[in-house]
Amino acid sequence: MSINKEQYLIIKEQLTTNAVTLIAVSKTKPNEDVQALYDLGHRAFGENYVQELVDKEASLPKDIQWHFIGHLQSNKVKYIAPFVYMIHGVDSEKLLQEINKQAAKQNKIIDCLLQVHIATEETKFGFDGPSLHEILVSGRVANYTNVRIRGLMGMASFSEDQNLLSNEFTLLKSYFDKAQQAFPNGQFDTLSMGMSSDYTLAISKGSTMVRIGSLLFGARNYNK
Ligand SMILES: *Cc1c(COP(=O)(O)O)cnc(C)c1O
Repeated sequence: MSINKEQYLIIKEQLTTNAVTLIAVSKTKPNEDVQALYDLGHRAFGENYVQELVDKEASLPKDIQWHFIGHLQSNKVKYIAPFVYMIHGVDSEKLLQEINKQAAKQNKIIDCLLQVHIATEETKFGFDGPSLHEILVSGRVANYTNVRIRGLMGMASFSEDQNLLSNEFTLLKSYFDKAQQAFPNGQFDTLSMGMSSDYTLAISKGSTMVRIGSLLFGARNYNK
């Protein structure tokens, strides 16, 4: 139960050089750890579970930017819509519709990233290349006036094979470059890829936002 301050400062420095945004992934970690990083000046945190996020938001400082990075069920959007800063895992048009609806109720616009499936594992969520292209060229996203599509998010395979990871990140970057053409206004500026084990590679392949948990907060223990 503590944070790795030295590691944080090293990563911060690395990312500043590359103009990459750091999302500190605090899932399963106690409020004190979030507060400790906050006290070092950090504001952008990522969470995967709706109830945990709602609880943390209620008791931690109000100027934290909460990124929802997990798999979001449509019926739970309403709980995070009032305060969420960005939703990374938008993996269906149904979910996009629901986010739009809940954002409208809150009189706000919610920033979203479309999740793309790039990994070899079937268990990971996201659009595939053709369905991503279809939703973007169809122009339907323009109907969702209370969401702002800011870019793409992806998770590489759970693997040590640098070649495989490199190919997956390169593929995601190519989708990103292509999709960007659908947003001539410049809003489409975020490519969320890279975690503790692969963020340096992800940055070299064009990531603009990394989601780092265990390097900052230590390994997670799910059976507490
Ligand atoms: C948990 C998680 C992370 C952080 O993983 P680490 O390996 O601890 O850095 C990043 N992205 C997503 C989507 C996650 O679920």
